[in-house]
Amino acid sequence: MTEEQWRAIELNDASYDGLFYYGVKTTRNVCRPSCPARRCRRDHAIAFDTLEEALSAGYRPCSRCRPDRPDWRGARAELAENAKKWIDERYTEKFSLQRLAQHLFVNASYLNRVFHESVGVTPLAYHNAARIREACRLLRESDLPITQISWKTGFSTTSHFSKVFHKLRGMTPTEYRKQANTGK
Ligand SMILES: [Zn+2]
Repeated sequence: MTEEQWRAIELNDASYDGLFYYGVKTTRNVCRPSCPARRCRRDHAIAFDTLEEALSAGYRPCSRCRPDRPDWRGARAELAENAKKWIDERYTEKFSLQRLAQHLFVNASYLNRVFHESVGVTPLAYHNAARIREACRLLRESDLPITQISWKTGFSTTSHFSKVFHKLRGMTPTEYRKQANTGK
């Protein structure tokens, strides 16, 4: 295994998929470089130029990255789904791509890219959208002051809240509340 190959594995770099495969000596699985499964130790990894080589050496195709199915996108979709779920449960907390990536055992920039490809926005934008959705609900259904709504949805300052709100809804929180109330 070369330095470059190991680096591709560490970064879950999908641009190396098909260029080589790696077997994990302990599990006897063979993976693509972009495999989202938990990373193995370097001395447990062995590189193969082709999948056939790995199979004839007794390795089985990994069930997460499916190296035997070139069109397989399941692992990436699964990764994005898991990331969405994690964010949905924690949108009031401060967003950290690093923490999310650690939780999912993948590289942060890889996660960002896969999430964006699969969901259409970055994890941060998805996180902000979840906050603003909840803020809208509170603006419509409660009499809480804006400062409290901003705090409750996880924004550290009201000005940041207003800025993100305006970007996503095209109006200020106050205008949104007024509009929602006149619509009643
Ligand atoms: Zn794999």
